[in-house]
Amino acid sequence: MAGNDRCLFCRIAHGEIPSKKVYEDSDVFAFYDINPQAPTHVIVIPRKHISSLDDLSDGEANVVGITLVRLAQIARDLHLSSDGYRVVANHGEAAGQTVFHIHFHLLGGRNFGWPPG
Ligand code: 5GP
Ligand code: ZN
Repeated sequence: MAGNDRCLFCRIAHGEIPSKKVYEDSDVFAFYDINPQAPTHVIVIPRKHISSLDDLSDGEANVVGITLVRLAQIARDLHLSSDGYRVVANHGEAAGQTVFHIHFHLLGGRNFGWPPG
């Protein structure tokens, strides 16, 4: 994907759409969700555009792995780790995926029910 073809999260990661950035490096970008579902709600994405979990290939294992490693560090930095936090990845319509660029929701600052809604 390039230029105007970029998806919403690619554009956010490129700084073309403003966001409240939490973390960035050459592999990963993280920003606060515009419609938070918890006191802390961060979206963590790989910079690489992958549309959904269903599009992942073996060669992209490192991309997802480093995204989760960075997510855990962000959770520590935001002091979520001792109380606990939830990580959510929605795939497809039934789960309510609305943005088709792989992302992990990092939710913290409250208690979470199980099973999830
Ligand atoms: P999904 O439903 O695909 O798992 O999650 C997409 C998330 O992206 C939603 O929680 C939604 O609030 C968030 N989101 C959608 N558009 C924007 C935006 O322009 N900026 C930010 N910061 N978050 C967004
Ligand atoms: Zn994208």
